[in-house]
Amino acid sequence: MKINGYTRTCGLVGNPVEHTMSPAIHNTLAKAMEENLVYVPFHVPEGCLEAAIKGAYGLNLLGLNITVPYKSQVIPFLNEIDSLAETIGAVNTLVRVEGGYKGYNTDMPGLYRAMCEDGVSIEGEQVLILGAGGVARAVAILAARKGAARIILMNRTLDKAGQVAEEVNMIAEKKLASAMSLTDYTQLPEGERYLAVQATNVGMFPNTEEAVIEEAGFYQKIHTGYDLIFNPARTRFMELVGAKGGRAFNGLKMLLYQGIIAYELWTGRQVDKALAERAYEEMKQAMGI
Ligand code: NAP
Repeated sequence: MKINGYTRTCGLVGNPVEHTMSPAIHNTLAKAMEENLVYVPFHVPEGCLEAAIKGAYGLNLLGLNITVPYKSQVIPFLNEIDSLAETIGAVNTLVRVEGGYKGYNTDMPGLYRAMCEDGVSIEGEQVLILGAGGVARAVAILAARKGAARIILMNRTLDKAGQVAEEVNMIAEKKLASAMSLTDYTQLPEGERYLAVQATNVGMFPNTEEAVIEEAGFYQKIHTGYDLIFNPARTRFMELVGAKGGRAFNGLKMLLYQGIIAYELWTGRQVDKALAERAYEEMKQAMGI
């Protein structure tokens, strides 16, 4: 692309940012759509977040993505926040508005778009969420909003799963979610089969031989396993789901679509399916898969 006086800049704020796939997504989209926009990673050291957001506004940056560890920490430095991001309590996209930035969460709409494309439905499903961290909480809210019949949060630390379940029930205004420890899966009713979303860090590179639950008996209960991890592309969790005949997906399409939705917010333009596929291929190439 040609950088000139009209080039707009977007970027990623995080710590670390060195292994990000986001430049592959956004620069592919900008080039293909002939948008005079460039996307760069910004490594923001601890203690510098407020200065980074103010500086970004001062430098006329069009938008930012926010990643670990700043998705919640950034909220006090926003001018406005979208209602979904406020409910989830995490922001991964900033869009320039008068006087500052408006915060959005495109991770959950991204996961939803990825699931729709993969033919995975939430409505009426018994949803098992493995984990109770920031992303698991957001997935539970998404599942509640998209009509899950029941949500079970399974976590190593049971108290945390209980807290998230309570919050989800408050948001849903009914008792939809409950908590269970990882070892209690045998108490799940016989004959029921679940959509399982793997939202822990277990199995992520370099610990690729690990799964948060190893027992084959658990995987008999899973008809679809959605692992939010994308490195490796085929996780041990996915292997275990597949071994018992379930469908298994990784988190790469979620990553793609959170980026696409952010790009659409920044530019006001829609990304079509053919271009989404091109960006997906670029990401896979950047990851060497
Ligand atoms: P987080 O807030 O740190 O939560 C981590 C979760 O993993 C907690 O529930 C924790 O359990 C559990 N956990 C960690 N180590 C464990 C172990 N050894 N055994 C059992 N449980 C363990 O992390 P997060 O931000 O929610 O991220 C979760 C996952 O989502 C990560 O794998 C990340 O890569 C993925 N993610 C994917 C995308 C995407 O676009 N595909 C985007 C964002 C995140 P305790 O509560 O017991 O500590």
